[in-house]
Formats: sequence, structure tokens, C-alpha cells
Amino acid sequence: MQRVANFIDGQFRPPCSGKYLPDAEPATGRVIAEIPEGGPEDVDAAVAAASRAFPGWRRTPAEERSRILLRVADRIEENFEELARLESRDNGKTVGLARRMDVPRAILNFRFFATAILHAESRAHITDDRALNYTLRQPLGVAGLISPWNLPLYLLTWKIAPAIAAGNCCVAKPSELTPLTAARLAELIVEAGVPPGVVNIVHGYGASAGRALTAHPNVPLLSFTGGTKTGADVMAHAGPLFKKVSLELGGKNPNIVFADADLEQAVATSIQSSFANQGEICLCGSRLFVERTCYDEFLDRFLAATKRLRIGDPQDDATEVGALVTEAHRRKVEGYVALAEEEGGEILTGGKRPADLPERVRDGWFLEPTVIAGLDCNRRVMQEEIFGPVVTVTPFDSPDEAIAYANGTRYGLSASVWTRDLQKAHRVAAAIDSGTVWVNTWLLRDLRVPFGGMKESGVGREGGFDSLDFFTEAKNVCVKL
Ligand code: NAP
Repeated sequence: MQRVANFIDGQFRPPCSGKYLPDAEPATGRVIAEIPEGGPEDVDAAVAAASRAFPGWRRTPAEERSRILLRVADRIEENFEELARLESRDNGKTVGLARRMDVPRAILNFRFFATAILHAESRAHITDDRALNYTLRQPLGVAGLISPWNLPLYLLTWKIAPAIAAGNCCVAKPSELTPLTAARLAELIVEAGVPPGVVNIVHGYGASAGRALTAHPNVPLLSFTGGTKTGADVMAHAGPLFKKVSLELGGKNPNIVFADADLEQAVATSIQSSFANQGEICLCGSRLFVERTCYDEFLDRFLAATKRLRIGDPQDDATEVGALVTEAHRRKVEGYVALAEEEGGEILTGGKRPADLPERVRDGWFLEPTVIAGLDCNRRVMQEEIFGPVVTVTPFDSPDEAIAYANGTRYGLSASVWTRDLQKAHRVAAAIDSGTVWVNTWLLRDLRVPFGGMKESGVGREGGFDSLDFFTEAKNVCVKL
């Protein structure tokens, strides 16, 4: 069985506690690796290593940092298939999705920020003939990076790449449920020639290693992606230390289909936005609102497509729906399906553990893609983030009603709007309270755009120069002329 180590100061080290945690494969339920139960002492050592590396790394010319990041991207690309299979085994996602989304994005994250730093501009403000102001953007020191289990390598690299491109060093704490691609990334980082201490990875529980990083006095900035409740805890501990914090949190995203939409496209993409990664993507459109005049037709096609989805071994190329990340998470999602029935909803399809799974994955944590109708929008199932292959469908009669439904939760991460009427698209997009609105598409990402959530879906924006701004501090220098 694989035994993972912490990655501190360029070395692979056992945890100070000497204790290890089991890491299970969701598709089989079997333990496939042991990971360090890192805690405050490991975080201290990692922060110390990062602090030592910082003066040298911040002085490294941008062109050289860029070359090093590009080499990391190349190493990921050279190990593409291995990483896709590893991500699929560790998380339960299909290997096809890991090939299409997770690994390409990890490569792009490094390439994007490696080249972005070569194009960064400095601002100057001339105060008549009295003064010249120019703004330096300087790295802060050690960045704490905490990431979740749903897109493990994708989100870890979305943080590491801009943090170190901007000249910071970092300590990352991946989710203890999906540590394997982070562990492999550490090896690739060594091969790519990233200097020791620039990137450190401590594995372990959020409540211990994560909290230690959040509350560490020598970690002035924190980039956190995870649940809204955990985000509040991170804020509570980082606030008194006046850290710079970016929070990318949960969502309960609306997917609005107007009757004038291209229904074929809307159905095909809504299947993805509902069930890709088993619905375990923060951006999934878990609340479908369909204009009443096309509700029946849309629903017939949507249900037929849902029933056609192939559930099975995530390592099999043909599989479209894999396993949920843990048994406990599957129970939580099943709890919401039961709650939906109590709240007066009707399960139109799914809601059960699939029968007839292939022998290898018979004991895995699978759940059928589930469609629920008939729920009042204020019900818990329509208000709380379920984060599984569960979508609700609700008819609406007017754009205003759709907007009110869309905005009727405490979240505001993303939304999709389907219509051929451009005026309507712009009007509805402007009225929806969310950080991203997609029109006639979903999850089409350009890494230059600002990404983040409104309301309880987050604080701050990442992406493009927003990320580089977050990972640097502005300093104005005023020179009297
Ligand atoms: P989570 O439970 O909040 O955990 C996220 C990370 O925080 C994990 O590494 C976790 O470690 C760590 N953590 C837990 N408690 C902590 C604490 N007290 N202090 C510091 N760190 C702590 O979230 P998750 O269940 O892994 O991920 C699912 C959630 O992430 C969903 O709500 C989803 O919407 C959200 N998400 C948001 C985005 C976005 O961009 N907005 C993207 C992806 C996911 P452990 O795993 O050891 O607990």
C-alpha cells in the first residue's frame, strides 16, 4: 500500500505525530493509501521552510520563475494519464472527466500564471508637475492554501501556481480525502526544479493541520476553497490576525431555461451541469427552473437523458457517473432525497443505490442521478447545498419569477441562463446575484475572468490579474518632482 509523506523544504517527511490516516478508493470502498496525520508541528516546520525560501524566491527574476512554472506544467503533461487515473481512483470521478477537465486544467493553471507574470503592468499616477506616484506589487511571504476534495489537483494548482508565480512561497493543505495527486505533484515539483521550501504540502485533517495554517501568525494570506461553514471558521481565525483572505465557498446554483432556448443544447448541457463529477462541483446547476410553456417537453427529454447515463467503474472509459467521495457523503445526499419526499417532492428518477454494478466496484459509494419535482422553493432541499447527483426542477411563468427564484437562497456562486433572446439574456444576467452567469453554456472557463461568489458563496475574486492582485500587496511610492 502506498504511504504518502508530507512535503516540506523539498523533502518527503513523515508526520511529527507518527500517525497515518487511511485513504479509501470511493469506487471500491477499499483503503489504497495511508496519509500523514499532519498537525501544528508539521505546519510550523512547513511555514519555517517557506519563510526561509521566501527572500531568495521573491528575488528570482519573473522570467526565471516563469520558466520553472512552465517546467511544472510540462511534468504534469508528461504524466497526464497517470494523474488522470490517480485522480479518478482517489476521488471516484470518472477517468474521462479527469482527462477532459482536471488534468488539462492543472497544466493550464501553471502555464497561465507562468506567462501572466511576464505581462503584468505597473501603474503610475502623475500628480500634475508635483509628484510621480508608482505602485509596486510585492509578494507577501507565506501563502496558506487550503483546498477541497472535489477537484483536488485542479484547485490545488489553481492556488499554488499564482501564489508562487507572484513570488510568494506556500504551504498547501489538500483535503485528506483526496491526497494522492497532491503527493504526486510534489514529486513533479522537485523534478521541475522548484527550489526547496517554495512549495510545501502538509496532509491531515482540516480541524488540525488546516486550522494551524489558518491561525499561523507567519502566514499573512490565505486562499481557501471549501464549504461555507468551514469558510466562516477560517474567517473567524484569520480575522483577528488581519490576514488577507480569499474564500471560494459553496453554491446552490440556478439553471434557468426559457421556452425560446435551443432545447437540445439546453438538455445536453444541463445533464452535465447537474451530474458531472456526480454533482460534486461547486458550479453545478442544482436548481433547474424551466419556463412553464416548455416544461413538459424539457422534462421528458431531460429525464430520458438522465436515465441513459452510464454508472459504473470510474476507471472504465465508458462510465459517465462515478462514485461519491465517501460513504458518509453518500448517506448525507441520500438524506436529502428522503427529506425531499418528506417536504412534498416527487422523485422522478434515481434516488437509489444502483444495482448491477461491475464486480470490482460492487461495494462502492454510488448513487443514481436523481431528479426531484414539486418542491416549494423555500424547502431545505432547495435551499441547502447537497453536492451530489441531485437536481430539482421547478416551472416558472415570467423572467421576474425566474430571477426571484434564482436569487432566493443565501448563495450566489454561479448561474446559467438558456434563451435565444439576447435582450432577455442580458437583463436576466444583470439581475442575478452571482459571481458568474453563463448564457447558453456552462463551465466555459477563461482563466482571465474574475471568479468568485456573492453572498455566502465567497469573499474576493480569483482568476487572471485578480489572482495576481490577491497574491501581492500594492505599495505606492510617491516621489516629489
Ligand atoms: P470543507 O469541508 O469546507 O473542506 C475544505 C478544506 O478545508 C479541506 O482541505 C478541509 O480539510 C479543510 N478544513 C476543514 N476544516 C477546517 C478548518 N477548521 N480550518 C481550516 N481548514 C479546514 O469542504 P469540502 O467538503 O472538502 O468541499 C466541498 C465544498 O467546497 C462545497 O461546499 C463546495 O461548494 C465547495 N467548493 C467551492 C468551490 C468554489 O470555487 N467556490 C470550488 C470547489 C468546492 P479536511 O478535508 O481534512 O476536512
